[in-house]
Amino acid sequence: VKGYLNKIASNTHLNAFNEVFENDALESARNVDLRIQQGTAGKLAGMVIAIKDNICYKGHKVSASSKILEGFTSIYSSTIVERLLAEDAVIIARCNCDEFGMGASNENSHFGPVKNFADETRVAGGSSGGSAVAVQAGMCHAAIGTDTGGSVRQPASFCGIIGLKPTYGRISRHGIIAYASSFDQVGPITKSVEDAALLLEVMAGTDEYDSTLANITVPAFAENIKKPGPKKIAYLQEALSSPGVDPDVKSTLVEYIDKLRADGHTVKPIAFEYLDYIVPTYYILAMAEASSNLSRYDGVHYGYRSPAATDLVSTYKKSRSEGFGKEVKRRIMLGTFVLSAGYYDAYFAKAQKVRRLIREKTDSILKEYDFILIPTAPEPAPPLGKKEKDPVTTYLADIFTVQASLTGAPAISLPAGNNSKGLPLGLQLLTRHFEEQELLDFSKYFL
Ligand code: GLN
Repeated sequence: VKGYLNKIASNTHLNAFNEVFENDALESARNVDLRIQQGTAGKLAGMVIAIKDNICYKGHKVSASSKILEGFTSIYSSTIVERLLAEDAVIIARCNCDEFGMGASNENSHFGPVKNFADETRVAGGSSGGSAVAVQAGMCHAAIGTDTGGSVRQPASFCGIIGLKPTYGRISRHGIIAYASSFDQVGPITKSVEDAALLLEVMAGTDEYDSTLANITVPAFAENIKKPGPKKIAYLQEALSSPGVDPDVKSTLVEYIDKLRADGHTVKPIAFEYLDYIVPTYYILAMAEASSNLSRYDGVHYGYRSPAATDLVSTYKKSRSEGFGKEVKRRIMLGTFVLSAGYYDAYFAKAQKVRRLIREKTDSILKEYDFILIPTAPEPAPPLGKKEKDPVTTYLADIFTVQASLTGAPAISLPAGNNSKGLPLGLQLLTRHFEEQELLDFSKYFL
């Protein structure tokens, strides 16, 4: 813990953390040390982790990187925090992120952007940018993020590390600040497949506080990792033909396809007819759910209340106007719009139907193939400040991550080398629901 605290102290300019739990971490480390000596320590003893600042940890502040949660302290721990602590993980900090997870560059944080350790003029990715940089720069051993539309996988890819989004229904969302509840999933960000597997197995499994969890056994993912036999892999043709994909991303994909074929796997191109609908469908649904989830921040129940409020209505109006950032407001407005009478059928109900089509098509591909291989992002980490100009361009860059989010499928982003400027590139594998073991096995030998 002291080693990581020193690393944190020398890297504060990266802005990866909203708060470092220095004394707490040192105290837990001493307790874990005692249990190690007594031979009673848990599976994660010695693992120092950082958590995204939208994960509740009893007695600690949690802000979702929003002003609206200013001064708010969690009164209970999320299920995942309880499980991590029960296995003797040490939680060292809460990580910067895009406000309520809304973003893809960590530039929508009330606490300012996070810098990429590989090139400090570039973004960390988002929304779990702080979590990714914390691991990338060696400020903790592993981190926990949340992934609604790619927020674990995309920053992991920009930072050259591993990000796993488990199947929807695998990990409890109890005590995770909601963004879009039918998409939100917790996921580990690590440097090794084994660590991702271990953290997944500790956090996964049924929970009486989250009824969306599947009642299926959680394998000992880490222990079970084994070399897989020959697999059938589909890659998305458009990833190579689309002008919007960076040439280095394309050549990396080609390189891995060749390598997989040389290793005896079957790799074939597929076309995904709904590709153009993936991003609009995701954003309509995510914004609708967000507008509903964020209605609880009313200046009364949580955090920030405007000092200028004079009555109930002005408490709502002023607290929300002053407390939420620009992107969050944009999404609340768009989400409210697509849910409003007269537009509900045209946008929200339609998007639900398209979501079903995307799910069915993806499932049918995964009946024939074991994995879908696609880039994690169409380009490496862009320069800081670029996104400000155009939110729609930023939304479109989620093209490769939101398929797994819409369908609930598990997906992992794996480091796939650097481009000529030294910027990390990532490739992503998707598989069938609840087949994380196969995903991890393949990832381990695919790396
Ligand atoms: N970039 C996507 C969005 O802004 C995904 C964010 C996330 O996964 N939390 O919605």
